[in-house]
Amino acid sequence: MTVLDTGFFRRWMSAMAAAVDREAGRLTELDSAIGDADHGSNLQRGFAAVAAALEKEPPATPGAVLALAGRQLISTVGGASGPLYGTLLRRTGKALGDDAEVTPEQLAAALRAGVDAVAQLGGAKAGDKTMLDALIPAAAALGESLSFGAARTAADEGAVATVPLQARKGRASYLGERSIGHQDPGAASSALLIDTLADTAGSGWGSDPGAGAGSDSGAGSGADSGAGTGSGSGAGSGAGSDSGAHSGSDSGSRSDSGSGSGSAEVGA
Ligand code: ADP
Ligand code: MG
Repeated sequence: MTVLDTGFFRRWMSAMAAAVDREAGRLTELDSAIGDADHGSNLQRGFAAVAAALEKEPPATPGAVLALAGRQLISTVGGASGPLYGTLLRRTGKALGDDAEVTPEQLAAALRAGVDAVAQLGGAKAGDKTMLDALIPAAAALGESLSFGAARTAADEGAVATVPLQARKGRASYLGERSIGHQDPGAASSALLIDTLADTAGSGWGSDPGAGAGSDSGAGSGADSGAGTGSGSGAGSGAGSDSGAHSGSDSGSRSDSGSGSGSAEVGA
């Protein structure tokens, strides 16, 4: 049976830190179209702090890895996305409990709990053009198929599908109809989070034995739940999915001050 150990979750968070570094420019560009051009730098700062904290005092369990990551995001990222991402990871970690290893089933259920907590905190639902539009389908796909590749595809498609939507939550909602035609930055970064999960799973066990995974428990169990079956496997999937999203025509016109996301501003 496939199990995911503490090292798996640490590798996932490191991969996310690297992905956010790589994609910060694109995320900020998306946020400059319908927000305040800080989403890339917000997450860069946050996940750099996550990587540093995990290095400094490595947690003993998968749940503790995500809980620590969530706390770091809440304390280092301002704005809407810090508390929302922080809540996602903290609540997911909490739902994993104290187990030293967890199954994909457990992770799927925990991720659903985390996604529910984000919806509760921010008051958004599917179709509001937020990070939830990537996370809800990803959690559903993982729960249904236990395939990280399927979760990746669902997240990527969910992020792209925010382009024609009008934002109903967060800063982008201030633009009303002018938010239409741009990909939501938080949905794009959430797709990265699921991409890196699938990448970590793909290199950790199953069809790719020994690919630098270290003590990959459960490798080659035959139960590998379709990891790596996602479309754009590997680097950069999801990139370019914002094509046509930034016309630039409306950039620079916003002066909305305030932290307004409509969400509960925890520590912003
Ligand atoms: P800020 O909007 O404070 O500048 P960021 O730019 O870092 O924060 O993050 C913006 C992203 O946060 C949005 O693209 C959206 O996905 C997400 N977001 C904002 N408000 C909400 C909300 N109420 N519920 C869910 N996600 C939200
Ligand atoms: Mg912003």
